[in-house]
Amino acid sequence: MLYQRSSALFKEAEQVIPGGVNSPVRAFKAVGGTPIFAKSAKGAYVYDEDDNRYIDYINSWGPMILGHAYEPVVNAVIDKAKDGTSFGMPTEIETQIAELAVSMVPNIDKIRFVNSGTEACMSAVRLARGFTGKEKIIKFAGCYHGHSDAFLIQAGSGAVTFGSPNSPGVTQGTAKDTLLARYNDLGHVQQLLEANQNEVACIILEPVAGNMGCIPPVNGFLKGLRQLCDAHNVLLIFDEVMTGFRLAKGGVQELYGVDADIVCFGKVIGGGLPVGAFASRNEIMSHLAPLGNVYQAGTLSGNPLAMAAGLAMLRSINEDSGLFKRLEEKTAYLHKGCAEALNTNNITHTINREGSMISIHFAEEAVIDFESSAKGNNERFKSFFHGMLEQGIYIAPSAFESWFITDALTYEDLDETIRAVETIAKSL
Ligand SMILES: *Cc1c(COP(=O)(O)O)cnc(C)c1O
Repeated sequence: MLYQRSSALFKEAEQVIPGGVNSPVRAFKAVGGTPIFAKSAKGAYVYDEDDNRYIDYINSWGPMILGHAYEPVVNAVIDKAKDGTSFGMPTEIETQIAELAVSMVPNIDKIRFVNSGTEACMSAVRLARGFTGKEKIIKFAGCYHGHSDAFLIQAGSGAVTFGSPNSPGVTQGTAKDTLLARYNDLGHVQQLLEANQNEVACIILEPVAGNMGCIPPVNGFLKGLRQLCDAHNVLLIFDEVMTGFRLAKGGVQELYGVDADIVCFGKVIGGGLPVGAFASRNEIMSHLAPLGNVYQAGTLSGNPLAMAAGLAMLRSINEDSGLFKRLEEKTAYLHKGCAEALNTNNITHTINREGSMISIHFAEEAVIDFESSAKGNNERFKSFFHGMLEQGIYIAPSAFESWFITDALTYEDLDETIRAVETIAKSL
C-alpha cells in the first residue's frame, strides 16, 4: 500500500500540532511508522487519504458500534444543526436522551451529560468525594479513566500504598490521594482499604477492562468489590466509558449483575460526537450543583448536535433485541479463526474476549492484569500490526488496546481478517 498523502499530511500537521496529533494514541509511537490520515468511513470500512480501504477494528476507539456514518445518527445531526448548534439553554432533547439512558441502565435515577469520558470520570470522583467527605480513591493499574490528574498514576514496584505520578505536571499531592491496586486482585484492595480506614471515598474501575487489552473480571471480582465497598462505606464507580451500551443495554451492571454507585459513560453514548455522562441514584446525584454543592459545569454540555447523535444511537441499540447476541457471535467467530491461524503456525498467544471486545496478546501466560498484559511480546505485536495494516486491516497501534467489533462487519469481512492473520502468522 502507498501512504504518500498521509505522510505528507502528517509532516504538515507536525509543524502546528504537537506530534501531529490531537490525542497521543493516534500517533504510531508504539509501533513505529507514520499515522494514516482518515478521509472517510462507511459501515465497517475506513478510507485513508491515499484511498486505501481498511476493515476497521478501532471504530473511533469504540463509539461506532453500529458502523461508520450510521444513517440515523448522521441524519439526526444534520437535522438538528439546521435549528442552531448551541444555545447555553436547556433543550428538550437532553431530557429525551436522559430518560432513555435511565430506562436502559439499571440502578440509576439521574444522569448528567458532559463532553468526554475524561470529564465524566473526573466529575464522578469529585461527586464521590463530596458525597462521602473522604479524599482518597482506589484505582487499578492498567485501567484508564481519562487524562485528569488523579488518574495518571502508575504502580511503582509493590505499589502497596502511594502511587507516583506517571506524567510530569501531576503533583505529588494529587498522587498521594490515589491508591493503586492490581486488577482482579481482591486481597490487594482489601489491604488498601484496611490500611486507609475511613479515608477512601471510592473505588473506580473498568468493570471489564479495555485499556490493557481486553481483560474481563475474574469470577467473583466485581461482587467482591461491591461487598468490600459496602463494608467500608466506599462508593463503587464503574467506568463504563468503553463498555456502556456496548456489552449490554445496561452495561456491565446488567451483564454481571453487580450494582455500582456511580456509572460513567462516553464513546457509544455520543454516537461519535463528543459526549460523556455520569449517573447515579437520587441520593447521590442530589449533591451535584445546582441541587447540591458539588460543582460541575460545561458551556457545551448537552450540546444539541451531540445529544441528537447520542439519542439516535441509543434508540437504535434499545430497539434491536438481537444486537448484542449478533456482536458476540461475530466476535467469537473472529476469536476462533484467529486462534486457529496462530496455533497452526505455533505462535504463542492469549486471546481475551468479552462481548464485542477482543484482544490478541503475544503472551505465554493468561492475561489478567496490567503486569501480565505488559509481558506480551511487543516486537511481535509491531510486526503483526504492520502486517495487518498492509493487508487492509486496521487495528489499534498498541498492544494495550482492545479491538472493537461493529455490527456492520459481515462474515466475509471477518474471513478476510482471519486470512490476513493466517498470512502474517507464517512470518511472525
Ligand atoms: C476512552 C476512555 C476514557 C476517556 O474518555 P475520553 O472521551 O477519551 O476522555 C475513560 N475511561 C475509559 C474506560 C475509556 O475507555
